[in-house]
Amino acid sequence: MSGVGPPVSALPPVPYAISRRPDGLLIEWDAAGHEWLYPARALRLACRCAICTEEMTGRPLLDPATVPDDVSPVSVALVGAYGLRVVWSDGHDTGIYSFAALHAGCGCERCRRSGAE
Ligand SMILES: [Zn+2]
Ligand SMILES: [Zn+2]
Repeated sequence: MSGVGPPVSALPPVPYAISRRPDGLLIEWDAAGHEWLYPARALRLACRCAICTEEMTGRPLLDPATVPDDVSPVSVALVGAYGLRVVWSDGHDTGIYSFAALHAGCGCERCRRSGAE
């Protein structure tokens, strides 16, 4: 694989490390302990692919009732320097999560604090 461009300074954010776990994705944003566990089902429901979300309107097409409570990430692959493609245990594999969106959704204390200001 090629096409991964040079790292862009500060923006967009790029994870330092990504760990796939049965209960979600643990993303470390830096080596200094800035990390957040993105719960699997919430991440699955937040999928923005054309199957889950109407492209023109952003209207959700995904019925949460069709997503198992114990859905888990089966595999995670980098999409360039842009984001992650996640294959889910319910068979869904077209979702791409941009690092920018993931970073914006970081629920750690530090991000919650800075977001509240
Ligand atoms: Zn989707
Ligand atoms: Zn954070």
